[in-house]
Order: sequence, then structure tokens, then C-alpha cells
Amino acid sequence: LVSRMRAFGTTIFAEMSALAVRTGSINLGQGFPDTDGPAAMLDHASEAIAAGANQYPPGPGVLDLRQAVVEHRSAHYGLRYDADGEVLVTVGATEAIAAAVLALCEPGEEVVAFEPYYDSYAASIALAGARLTAVTLRPAQGRFTFDPDELRAAITPRTRAILVNSPHNPTGTVFTREELAVIAELCLERDLVAITDEVYEHLTFDGVEHIPLATFPGMRERTVMISSAGKTFSVTGWKTGWVCAPREYVAAVQTVKQFLTFTASAPWQVAVAYGLRHELEWVAALRASLEDKRDRLMDGLRAAGFSVYRPQGTYFVQTDIRPLGFADGLELTRRLPELAGVVAIPTQVFYDHPERGAHFVRFAFCKRDEVIDEAVARLKRLS
Ligand code: PMP
Ligand code: GLN
Repeated sequence: LVSRMRAFGTTIFAEMSALAVRTGSINLGQGFPDTDGPAAMLDHASEAIAAGANQYPPGPGVLDLRQAVVEHRSAHYGLRYDADGEVLVTVGATEAIAAAVLALCEPGEEVVAFEPYYDSYAASIALAGARLTAVTLRPAQGRFTFDPDELRAAITPRTRAILVNSPHNPTGTVFTREELAVIAELCLERDLVAITDEVYEHLTFDGVEHIPLATFPGMRERTVMISSAGKTFSVTGWKTGWVCAPREYVAAVQTVKQFLTFTASAPWQVAVAYGLRHELEWVAALRASLEDKRDRLMDGLRAAGFSVYRPQGTYFVQTDIRPLGFADGLELTRRLPELAGVVAIPTQVFYDHPERGAHFVRFAFCKRDEVIDEAVARLKRLS
């Protein structure tokens, strides 16, 4: 393995899901739902295969999906993109993030991201030979946020891009208009590209709405906006994502993408186009049901002795394990199957400064109520 990838090993999601299978534990680690997406959309995928959507789609993606993405961005956010040249379909958001970083960042340039960060960011930045500068999100008044001065100080003349994930995995923070305005202002002042990971855009709670960074004045022109179908439609295995950006950015990202995977799989694209046009009511119901599940898991974790942070979005509850007498989340999550028959994710693996997240553990609530209840009953053994 090349030296720049040696620090990465196996992802924590693979390690912890394998641990769950091996020990027969309830898996509240890796974030994937245990119920299916909208039935008519699933049927559309089968029908697309029966109808012959089985050869390479066009490089930028199936036109109908690109058009559906454009309509969705316009209807929800008032953002206008041209389906011909400003939208690119990718193999999930993961490929979009990797291709964007590889396309836009020179070796030695710096990319700012908020820690804890989704694990693919550090690996994508390393693949590009670029350097990650992590700005720490810290709890304040019950939610995780950043210090604007720390963000400003993290930007140097070598900084090329900032990677912004909101709604944020793993903390559940949805950046406010004020927080986003600080980021936007710095992007304009320091001439940065924003790469935004918005895969949880529809999964927000308590009436909180996701605001894309590209909607801020001057930002559409410097933002590579990324999302995908996996979370919105509970089809994480479909790996269908998209990039919306000004033409020159999309052309750059496509230049890289065509040599990573050439195109994304065809049948899913046909079905996701249908989903974006016809299944947003289903998504609204998913969001309401996830809000109930969040409350269910939060109440249960509190009763089991964890200190919990209320997420405003995503699939995840962030907990502090210190009230239970534990200090190291990695140690605890490796023992959790034996102690309680449950698997969770140690948040510290998403930090450049692991000591800042040592006591945090992430639990997923995108599971059936009875699964959440059983996990909570087992976790009560800890106290
Ligand atoms: N970004 C974040 C923040 C995620 O949680 C995930 C996990 N699904 C991804 C990107 C990857 O999305 P996809 O499965 O579409 O590649
Ligand atoms: N996004 C999901 C999570 O954060 C799963 C990602 C993965 O398995 N790579 O748990």
C-alpha cells in the first residue's frame, strides 16, 4: 500500500458491522435503514432493467435524472442549474467528494474540514496529496458548533477548499444561517472553493430546515454541491449521487470521475429520477418517523446513563460516555458487544485530534422501533 494511504486501514464502518455480525449484536453503528425505500421507486428500478436500461449511460448521467435534480434544486432552494453541463451523476456522494477533491486540489494545497468528519474526507484529501486542516466542532448549549476565529485561523494562503457537511455526520448539527454566513464570507474573502456534502438534506427535525451554502450571495459560483439518493430514499446500497456546480467545476470533476468509474449504474438512475419527482411525500413521512426514532433512542440512551446531544438532523445521536464511568469510546465500542450486545461507532476516529472526541460514541436511530427498544434494554446493563 502506498505511503499516503497507510494510515487508513479498514473503515470503522466495516470493522464495526463485521463485529456486529460476528457477535450477533444489534448494529447501531453503520448508518443504514432496516426498512426499504418507497415501493414504487423500487419497482421503477426493476422495470428499468426489464426495459433495457442495462448498458453504459451517458458520462454525465442519465438525462432524466439530471433534469430531476435540476427541478429539485430549483423547487427546494431556488438554485438554478443547467442539466447540460452543471450536473454530474456519480457513484454515491463518496465518489463525488473524492472526484471533487482530486479535480480541484493540487498536491500540497490545504483543505479545511470540520472535525469530527466523515471518514472519506481525510482519505480523499490524502489521495490527492493535499493536506487536511481540521477545525473542531465543540458542544455549546447542547449542540456542536465551531468558533469563527478558529475557522479563520485555519485558512492559510495554501488553502484551496473547504469541505462543509450539513446536516452533519456524526454530530447531528444543522448549520444555522449565521454559521453558514461566516463560512460563506470566508470563502469569498479568501477565494476558496466550497465542497458541500448535503446527503442528509431532507433528514432534519424540530422544524429546522437545511440551507445550502450555495444559496448565499456569491456562493453558487464557487460551490460544488453534493448529495445522493441513499439517505433521502433509504437506498444506501444504490450508491447514486450527484454534483451540481458551475460548468467549469463540473467539467473538472467529470474529467476525474470518468477515470474512476466512467459512469454510475444505469437502472438506479432511472428509478431515482422517479423518486425525486414523485416520492417527496414519502420522504416527508420518513423524516417524521426518524424524528420519533431520534426521540426514542435519545430517551433510551439517557435512561441507560449516557449524556446525549439532541441532533437536528441525520441518522445519529452523539453521546458522552463519561457519566457511565467510561473514558475511551474506542475501547468501549470494541467491548460493547460483550458488555451489552450492541455495536456503536467511536466518534474519536473522525478526529485529527482524537483526544478531543475520546469520550463521544455515536448511535444510529434509522432502525425499526423494536430494534431501538431492544438495544436500549441491553444498554441498560451498562449502569
Ligand atoms: N457523506 C456523509 C456525511 C455520509 O454520512 C455518507 C454515508 N452515506 C456519505 C457521504 C456517502 O454517501 P453515499 O453512500 O451516497 O456515497
Ligand atoms: N454514512 C454511513 C455512516 O456514517 C455509512 C457509511 C459507510 O459505511 N461508509 O455510518
